Amino acid sequence: MSSIKQVLSKDMVGKKVQLRGWIYRTRSSGGIVFAVLRDATGIIQVTVKKGNVPDHDFEDAAKAAIESSVMIEGEVAEDKRAPGGFEVRASRFTVVGFSEPFPITEYQSTELLLDQRHLWIRSREQNAVAKVKAALLKGARDWFHENDYVEVTPPIVTAVAPEDSTTLFQIKYFDRIAYLSQSAQFYLESLIFSLEKVYSLTPSFRAEKSRTPRHLAEYWHMEMEAAWMDNEGNMEVQEQLVTAMLQNAVKECPMELQLLKRDPATLRKIEPPFERMKYQEAMDYLQSKGQDVRWGSDLGAIEERTITVDKQLPVFIVNYPKELKPFYMKENPEDPRTYKNSDLLAPEGYGEIIGGSERETDNARMIAWLEEKGENMDNYKWYLDLRKYGSVPHSGFGLGIERIVTWVCKLDHIRDAIPYPRTVARVYP
Ligand code: ATP
Ligand code: MG
Repeated sequence: MSSIKQVLSKDMVGKKVQLRGWIYRTRSSGGIVFAVLRDATGIIQVTVKKGNVPDHDFEDAAKAAIESSVMIEGEVAEDKRAPGGFEVRASRFTVVGFSEPFPITEYQSTELLLDQRHLWIRSREQNAVAKVKAALLKGARDWFHENDYVEVTPPIVTAVAPEDSTTLFQIKYFDRIAYLSQSAQFYLESLIFSLEKVYSLTPSFRAEKSRTPRHLAEYWHMEMEAAWMDNEGNMEVQEQLVTAMLQNAVKECPMELQLLKRDPATLRKIEPPFERMKYQEAMDYLQSKGQDVRWGSDLGAIEERTITVDKQLPVFIVNYPKELKPFYMKENPEDPRTYKNSDLLAPEGYGEIIGGSERETDNARMIAWLEEKGENMDNYKWYLDLRKYGSVPHSGFGLGIERIVTWVCKLDHIRDAIPYPRTVARVYP
């Protein structure tokens, strides 16, 4: 048995091959059926000529609708008119599973494609996105392991909210209330006291009520935390990690990127260092572009788009005002109105893909902040313990996997960066 990718090559011309897959397109004309077959690796035309295959095979080929699963045998030939330049001239054509009329045809509404997601994920675009995503994840994992980070497995069911408590999903947990994790950060922080450099890949849950093209209710979150690291070291890890992810996608998925209309050359050019732009500079730049922002304005999709639309490389925005970020970030001694933190924005208008910071180590400051916000201190007791027993400077960040996929695959909407998007409107299929 061969894969379609293996068969699409000059060396294969004249060879006998066996393939299996699904009918992607089919038409017949006179005594010939032209069936385009797809498998995990690509598509190829199969011509089934009456008389060249058993009669029964020809009848089945003529009536098999798209998405029928088939096994074929035949000889590879060059054919300029066929997609990919090659075809297989069948000597056998066996239908394994006939397909009912497929509910997805060309030009379907977004809603229908979401209703039929379990079938739409068979599309070539979704196939390509899934492979690019896997290559990005592998690039990240390889980078972490080469750099002595330990992959850890933090809990998903939690009692506290590291991020915005208004976006927590509450669950019934036996006879108590618990929450789905928004971030593994606190747990990763606890693990650096024995492992020093850790990372995790987990789903994070955010009850994002606003419908934006870059927010999911459930997304895959790659987070890292490292002892003895300041925020500059943290940014260096981010630029190296992102570069390693992109390089692996370019290496493993050049065809998939092209299918998605992403020129791999634009990704190949991306390497450290990435520009560092102070929050204040970002405000000045946005004002120069006529946007109504001032010190204390948050950067949303529009602002991030303005900053990055003409950029070829990602850019760090550093030192946000404290009022825009959570309590666990470390104050910037050079400007105490701000934190030692950064958001990494993807170029071409895509915007935030990573949020990171050096962490506060002074419990008194964190307690004052939590009290001011009226938080229940019992929930944070264990977290505050971490600063009591051999506290060390440390930093970390969270990278939204679907955000980086959206950028790399040039998607219009983050929902296409995940097979089953969870949003305010949808938990089915
Ligand atoms: P945003 O301002 O875009 O809502 P955030 O500041 O809430 O992001 P963080 O809490 O710093 O984001 O989370 C770390 C990373 O997780 C972000 O940089 C982003 O890549 C990703 N992320 C956050 N929220 C979502 C979401 N709802 N869907 C997909 N990815 C997300
Ligand atoms: Mg958010």
